[in-house]
Amino acid sequence: MKELTRETGSSLLLITHDLGVVARYADRVAVMYGGRIVETAPARELYARPRHPYTRGLLDSVARLDSDRRRRLVPIEGQPPDLAHLPAGCAFAPRCSRVFDRCRVERPKLEVIGELHAKACFADDVTVTEVGAGPASARGADGEQTSCSPTPESDQP
Ligand code: SF4
Repeated sequence: MKELTRETGSSLLLITHDLGVVARYADRVAVMYGGRIVETAPARELYARPRHPYTRGLLDSVARLDSDRRRRLVPIEGQPPDLAHLPAGCAFAPRCSRVFDRCRVERPKLEVIGELHAKACFADDVTVTEVGAGPASARGADGEQTSCSPTPESDQP
């Protein structure tokens, strides 16, 4: 697919829940929740410095080849919202460990927080974990990724 986009000069839009596929193919990622974009950034930036609690939760809930084998996966508690009956404030509020009063009454707008990085969240201190630039343990001798470890292969086209 990457080769095709290079050859034809076209773009490729992937819609998936598979973070390994995203890591491998995406230059830029838009994380959606409740039908809205809650965080967007270049893939490498988003995986290294997730700034929305939902993005953080997604990354914490998948296994990585380059992380400590004793690390426990942390599921996101609760259920996705009913899109026909979204809550008044932030759609992620019922599941968010960082929720506070404002979140339940006001919907956060997508705001720029850095170069090419935007998030829709009132909390400005979401825990950031540096996940490294590349999972050497997840690559074969030729540098090809051999698993679905969710670290971007490249943010270059
Ligand atoms: S706005 Fe509030 S509820 Fe929504 S993701 Fe941010 S901290 Fe959580």
